[in-house]
Amino acid sequence: MATDIDVIVIGAGVIGLATARELAITGLSVIVLETADAIGTGTSSRNSEVIHAGLYYPQRSLKAKFCVEGRRRLYDYCENHGVAHRRCGKLIVATTDDEVAILEDLKAKGGANGCDDLRLISSEEARQLEPALCCLAALVSPSTGIIDSHGYMLALRGDAEEHGTAIALLSPFERAEVTSDGFTVWVGGKEPMSLTSGCWSMPVACMRHGWPG
Ligand SMILES: Cc1cc2nc3c(=O)[nH]c(=O)nc-3n(C[C@H](O)[C@H](O)[C@H](O)COP(=O)(O)OP(=O)(O)OC[C@H]3O[C@@H](n4cnc5c(N)ncnc54)[C@H](O)[C@@H]3O)c2cc1C
Repeated sequence: MATDIDVIVIGAGVIGLATARELAITGLSVIVLETADAIGTGTSSRNSEVIHAGLYYPQRSLKAKFCVEGRRRLYDYCENHGVAHRRCGKLIVATTDDEVAILEDLKAKGGANGCDDLRLISSEEARQLEPALCCLAALVSPSTGIIDSHGYMLALRGDAEEHGTAIALLSPFERAEVTSDGFTVWVGGKEPMSLTSGCWSMPVACMRHGWPG
């Protein structure tokens, strides 16, 4: 079967869905292949659902850059798309003098990463926020939050489909071969698909473990 598709995204977790959405919005035709019978049944729905502020990553690393920028964009996305979330903040506590020094370092490191709202507070201030807390000091990270991962993935799916993306459930990617005019892709239990749209034809591996060996 010859198909005029620009991109195949493998895996309908949060990364695959966000990738498909972004590519579809730029005007590319996209199919998402997913082994399971629903989107987001893997790690993306079995995590802590924390929106991280970005304070732990090494300075000037891509992780730090993308976490801070991604966190800002994620809050905007949630607000604009009605995805349940809460900017509840987080307290990181020190219970020894050594840990107080670590909190000071963390504040400096986080600040350098672009987390410009971090505040060191005393044990009394911390207890006003959490009366059961016993600590010497605490670092407040107001930008840390929580998100409904299922609602987020549904919103990504909706955007992607609105821009023409097809989500193929029960469709495990098996392998792909380069042909003269695109790719042939094998999907479990189905006829091989030939993708024939020239240089844009590219399977994008979006599984946690990358391409199968
Ligand atoms: C315990 C834990 C807690 C975490 N907490 C947080 C947190 O609080 N905040 C945060 O931001 N991140 C957190 N993470 C990280 C986050 O969950 C992952 O980075 C993210 O979910 C990865 O998404 P993914 O789409 O790459 O993977 P997945 O959600 O695993 O999606 C991969 C998809 O690919 C499909 N698939 C696999 N093989 C094939 C194939 N051959 N063909 C077709 N489909 C296939 C799978 O069925 C699956 O649906 C946590 C991770 C863990 C493990």
